[in-house]
Amino acid sequence: MEQTLLLIKPDATKAKNIGEIISILESKKFRIEEMIMFKFTPELAERFYSEHNSKEFFPDLLMFMTSGKTVAIILTGKNAISRLRHIIGPTDPEMCEPDTIRGKYASSMRRNAVHASDSEEHFLAERRVIFG
Ligand code: ADP
Ligand code: MG
Repeated sequence: MEQTLLLIKPDATKAKNIGEIISILESKKFRIEEMIMFKFTPELAERFYSEHNSKEFFPDLLMFMTSGKTVAIILTGKNAISRLRHIIGPTDPEMCEPDTIRGKYASSMRRNAVHASDSEEHFLAERRVIFG
């Protein structure tokens, strides 16, 4: 069993998609280990997305991530990291299969409903930022 981190981003919490997204995770046999709801401060969002701090979309990303509440969930499952990345779909919703989480709930490249860790190294760093 492996652990990974999912964020339900402010666009999806505002659109009342929290329940449906959690249902999808449980239907895919992930176990919820920890879950919190919070609002990113600019400092916390900068730390969470530090790998992107030189990208041109970084200021817009921080504005979006601090615009409302986020739900952070630690999940356990078989091949959790790679399996969850498949279930959420690619960053750009136009590239997403309709049965992926982003295919269902994302509205743009930035407002794409969820985040999922892409490696064990990033999972550990992201968990530290959010859960301490
Ligand atoms: P992913 O979330 O699929 O791992 P990245 O790590 O590349 O994607 O990017 C982090 C987040 O930054 C994305 O989920 C999205 O919200 C935002 N983002 C990425 N690329 C762009 C872009 N070109 N324009 C606007 N926002 C972007
Ligand atoms: Mg990423």
